[in-house]
Amino acid sequence: MTDTTELRPRKLFIKTYGCQMNVYDSDRMADALAPHGYEPTPVIDDADLVVLNTCHIREKASEKVFSELGRLAELRREGGRDFTIGVAGCVAQAEGEEIARRSKAVDLVFGPQSYHRLPELLSRVRRGTPVVETEFPEEDKFEHLPLAQKQVIRSRGLTAFLTVQEGCDKFCSFCVVPYTRGAETSRPLEQVLTEARRLIEAGVRELTLLGQNVNAYHGLDAAGRSIGLGELCARLAEIEGLARLRYTTSHPSDMTDELIAAHRDNDKLMPYLHLPVQSGSDTILKAMNRRHTRADYLRTIERIKAARPDMALSGDFIVGFPGETDADFEQTLSIVREVGYASAFTFKYSIRPGTPGADMDGQVEEAVKTERLARLNELVTAQMRGFARACVGRTLDVLLDKPGRLPGQLGGRSPYLQAVHLEASADLIGTVQPVLIVGAGNNSIEGKIVTHAERNPASVLESQELAAISAALEHTRT
Ligand code: SAM
Ligand code: SF4
Repeated sequence: MTDTTELRPRKLFIKTYGCQMNVYDSDRMADALAPHGYEPTPVIDDADLVVLNTCHIREKASEKVFSELGRLAELRREGGRDFTIGVAGCVAQAEGEEIARRSKAVDLVFGPQSYHRLPELLSRVRRGTPVVETEFPEEDKFEHLPLAQKQVIRSRGLTAFLTVQEGCDKFCSFCVVPYTRGAETSRPLEQVLTEARRLIEAGVRELTLLGQNVNAYHGLDAAGRSIGLGELCARLAEIEGLARLRYTTSHPSDMTDELIAAHRDNDKLMPYLHLPVQSGSDTILKAMNRRHTRADYLRTIERIKAARPDMALSGDFIVGFPGETDADFEQTLSIVREVGYASAFTFKYSIRPGTPGADMDGQVEEAVKTERLARLNELVTAQMRGFARACVGRTLDVLLDKPGRLPGQLGGRSPYLQAVHLEASADLIGTVQPVLIVGAGNNSIEGKIVTHAERNPASVLESQELAAISAALEHTRT
């Protein structure tokens, strides 16, 4: 039953930290509160409720929350205006009561499995005591979260995230996810299809399926049969109006034959895959409890490229994991050179209390981590630029999804998730156009629409080009 005392318009400000799953969750929190009179505002000073949707993955990310809470407490004290302060996300889940103890300004602390309970939790806050809710409830939150109104979906753009899997059972020794997000679960097929249909009917053209380990997806269909991510993608691709599908983040061990075949057979699946390896050294991979070797990873990439030769790869890398020697780090550089990445995310190992890595011997000095990160970044940046340059002169299909920065310009995304700018009329927003790439900057590429007859047939990017770019970089270093 809706609490009618809550129906006067209230303003909601959510600050989102961390991964795409938090971006998705923030929207779902807003959807849960919309029937209770909360409207999103981009202006913190207007807010009746401020929610920090936090990230615990690295120390810096979680410490940011406490400095932000200090600022909010000051705003409340000095601004002479009362507003409710909530902390959601993985820091909330991991630290619970500790947050309320460290910051007296906090009214509500709630973990990712309680977002559907947000209206009820706020009613409890109004009764005057801080509320901390970090249990993993019995019920499925997705069954209780309302779907967004179509005009709200439209206001969020033509590309959307859709969480299909949560949690993780892999327990990599550096990672907090199994503790903060809990055991691996998959949403049932029909639930995913219902949400996808709503998004697509509202105009969404590209869906990115999300999960901490999305390729471990094993949702049940209506007959109670467990289906994999490849089959889920096939069912989603049948929905009329959907142009493109992506998924992230994947674990190398869960790249099944079925999923790899989907990359060959499903033309809506984009040829871009985020497949983190973390390290190129078998010793470190073992210490990280990654459950795959360097050779396993490289073999997986071979299988993927055999099915989809134009697949571009992206990865995550950690430098300075406990015990990492110079030789281990060289192995990471060498796997980057061998694979050739279109994009990459690089991190210094960050000690996370409660994970096995935190108690390991051989913690690496900060200065060494900094130096290794700089060397790795030099290599991956050269590859990313090389990849962008290799696109120049090719025709790529671009989904035009928004107005550009300058009048007469539109912005879009290439199949490889690059931002593309071009001149075109606004009525093409929402369409996929063949675009000849004419320039490559640091963060985006530039193009012009061509007719289908003018397409450059050489639109497949060869992985050898990236390997050649890496070799050239190596040559300049020696
Ligand atoms: N499930 C994905 C996988 O298996 O590769 C990774 C998801 S994790 C949420 C995102 C990335 O954060 C990881 O790939 C890893 O590179 C990085 N990360 C996680 N814990 C970290 C830590 N303690 N220090 C530094 N980076 C970390
Ligand atoms: Fe974390 Fe990914 Fe390892 Fe799971 S598989 S513990 S999410 S890094």
